[in-house]
Amino acid sequence: MWFGVDMTRFQFLGGKERKIFFTRLIVTLAIFVTLATFQMSMFLDELQPFHYVIPVVFSSVIGSFIGWNAILKQRLEMSNRVKSDFIASISHELRTPLTVIIGFSKIMSEMENLNLRGHEFAQRINLSGEHLLSFVNNTLDISSIESGSINLNIQKISPNKLIDECTTLMKPIADDAGISINSSVSGNTCMIHADESRLKQVILNLLSNAIKYNNEHGQVTVSAEPYGDKYFRISIEDTGIGIEPILHKKVFTRFERLGHNNSSIRGAGLGLHISKNLITMMGGQLAFSSIKGSGSKFWLDIPRV
Ligand code: ADP
Repeated sequence: MWFGVDMTRFQFLGGKERKIFFTRLIVTLAIFVTLATFQMSMFLDELQPFHYVIPVVFSSVIGSFIGWNAILKQRLEMSNRVKSDFIASISHELRTPLTVIIGFSKIMSEMENLNLRGHEFAQRINLSGEHLLSFVNNTLDISSIESGSINLNIQKISPNKLIDECTTLMKPIADDAGISINSSVSGNTCMIHADESRLKQVILNLLSNAIKYNNEHGQVTVSAEPYGDKYFRISIEDTGIGIEPILHKKVFTRFERLGHNNSSIRGAGLGLHISKNLITMMGGQLAFSSIKGSGSKFWLDIPRV
């Protein structure tokens, strides 16, 4: 017992939390009692018990409320920090062996003295490794975005050069899937303000989706041009399966695969959520339009220099 209060109910608070709670409570009490004393000094002749009982009760309630809020905020910050540290260390531990698996399976898949089955196995190991690595990287990105610890390196960059790099990178994947990529990037010399590697990540994600969710012999068209006074618009349009109108509002929701969870198309439903966050952090917007059965168009507007 402490001044008649059963302290066992505070046992679940850590020492630091108890300190925070009582500091907030006492500070609030002190402020209210000072104000009440000042007010009471004006009614000294007709002082009634409620003149001091009400401020003390009132300030105790408010003080406890402020104290609890401070503890909850501290607990939330701590659990976020623990979660981020945990994800970061797990991701690091997974990334190192995965890089080795991907590297060696790639070498094996190109070895001449391996039979057909051996080649096929090596390719499968490589593909699964790549998939797992992209999932690990995405999980790390989500955790950094949520904890606000992502650092962008915003610079003046040429979008056309970046788009060329991305389409060249995706060309072999599109060829394998029998899909053609047409790039109608105009000859403008516009420069934009963006984080080059993060913007590349977003464009690659949009291109990869445009290929993955396309039909056989489908097409992907990339265009880029100034948009309004302030922005530069990069659009990626496909002739693929499209998205049902009822699912449009869920497109940027994390882990949302819009019914593709059990399909043969690989994915984790994280790419668009991360892309939208990254583009917003760069001062831009990511949007889309889609017609089920006809195709989708995703575009991003990035601030122009
Ligand atoms: P993932 O492709 O890994 O599942 P994304 O976050 O990139 O995750 O996309 C979320 C979902 O949005 C996909 O699962 C798919 O259902 C839908 N989607 C994305 N891009 C397209 C597209 N170009 N055409 C049709 N559906 C798409």
